[in-house]
Amino acid sequence: MRTQMNETQENSTGRGTGSAELTRRARCIPQLIHDEPGLVAHSGPQQYVFRPGAYDDLPRLLRVGGYSRVAILHGRIGWSKARVYLPDSSDLVGPNGSILDIPFSGECCIEEIERVRALVVDRDIHAILAIGGGKVLDTAKAAGLRAGDIPVILLPTLASNCSAWACLSVLYEADGTPVGHEVHPTQVAAVVIDPRVLVDSPVEYLRAGIADTLAKWYECSGALDDAPSWDLSAGLARHAALQCRNLLTAHGVAALRDLEAERATDSLLTVFQVNIQIAGLVGSFGGAYGRATAAHAIHDGLSVLPSQQGALHGIKVAYGTLVQLALENRWEELDELDSLYDELGLPHSLDELGVTEESDEAIATIARVATLPMKTIHQLAGRTRPVAEKEVDTAIRALEDHERERVSSTALVPVASSVPVPLAHPGI
Ligand SMILES: [Zn+2]
Repeated sequence: MRTQMNETQENSTGRGTGSAELTRRARCIPQLIHDEPGLVAHSGPQQYVFRPGAYDDLPRLLRVGGYSRVAILHGRIGWSKARVYLPDSSDLVGPNGSILDIPFSGECCIEEIERVRALVVDRDIHAILAIGGGKVLDTAKAAGLRAGDIPVILLPTLASNCSAWACLSVLYEADGTPVGHEVHPTQVAAVVIDPRVLVDSPVEYLRAGIADTLAKWYECSGALDDAPSWDLSAGLARHAALQCRNLLTAHGVAALRDLEAERATDSLLTVFQVNIQIAGLVGSFGGAYGRATAAHAIHDGLSVLPSQQGALHGIKVAYGTLVQLALENRWEELDELDSLYDELGLPHSLDELGVTEESDEAIATIARVATLPMKTIHQLAGRTRPVAEKEVDTAIRALEDHERERVSSTALVPVASSVPVPLAHPGI
C-alpha cells in the first residue's frame, strides 16, 4: 500500500499535465478484455480489513497517504447504512481537509465513469472512498484509474458479489444492458468492511450473492482443471472455487436465516467473506481460467428482456448456472443444485424468474444474446468451436422440461409462488 500511496502523494504535490504524467494516464486507460491468453493473475486489494469498527481505520489510512481532499461516491441506501459508523468528516480528513460528496447515478456505464472522473480531476481529489454495492465500487475503480490512478478505498455495503475484491469493473450501457468488463492494471488501496453494515443489508441481496458465488465453481472448475499442473496459481483458484461451493452449501441457508434475524453468527460472517473475498480469489489467482463462462452469458441474455430489467444480477446468474449444466449434460450435478436452490429460495425456471415474455421468443432472445461473439460462453472448457445459438436454445428447453417434470413428480410448490423475485434498487 505504501508504494502506491507514496507514488500518488508525489502526484498530489506535483500534479500537472507533464508528458510523463500524460503517458502514465494513457497507460492507465484499460481495454475491454475478453480473451487474455494463459494465466495472468491479478491480486486483490492492497489491504483488506473485515471487523466491527473497521471504519475507524480510515483516518489513519488517509493521513498516512497524505490524502486530505477526498471524494465519497455512494449509493443512497448503502450510504444511509454506512454513515452511522463513519468517523466525522473532520476526523476523516483533518481540519484542513475537504470532502466532495458524489451521489451515484445508478449505473456503472462510461457516462457515469466519465462524470466521476471529471469531478475528481476538477477538484484535484487525492483519493476516492466508494460506499455501496458492486456498481458503485466498479465505477469508483474505473474512474480512479482514469483520473490518473488515484487511490480508491472500497467500503462495500452488500455481500452480493466480489466487486470489492476483483481487480476489474463490469460495464453496462446507461440503460443497464451488459457491455463486458475491463481488467485494471492496478489494485485498489484498501477494502474496509464493517460487518455490522452488511448485517443491516437486504436478505435478497445476500441470496443473489450466494447464487453468484456458487456459480464460480460450476463456471470455472472445467477450465481450472485444464490448467497445467505446474500452474500453482490456478490450483489456488480451483481451491477457492471449491471453497465457494462447499462453504455456501454448508452455511448458505443458515446465513439467510440469520441475516433475516439480523444475527451476526459464524455462518453469516462466513458467507459474507466467501461472497466477497473467496469469490474474488477465484478470479485473482485464476486469471483467464477463473473467469465467468456460460452462466454469466445466460445472465446477459436474460438482461435484455424487458421483464428482467432491474432483476438482481445473482438471481439471473442462478438460472444461468442451471442452463450451463444442461448445456454440458451435467444432469447429476444439476439435480444436486436443484435441491440446494429449493432451500436457498433460488429460481429453477423462466417462470420462477418472472419472465413474462412469450416463451419461444424469450428463449430465442436469451440464446442469441448469450452466444454473441464476445460473450464468455465461448470460454467453456473442452470446446473446440464456439457455442452455437441452437445449442443454448436446446439446453434451455431441456432445462425447462426437466424442471417441469421435477416439480410435478415431487409436487413441490414453485419458488416463485412463495418467494417473489426482487428488483434491484439503483440507490444501493
Ligand atoms: Zn456475477
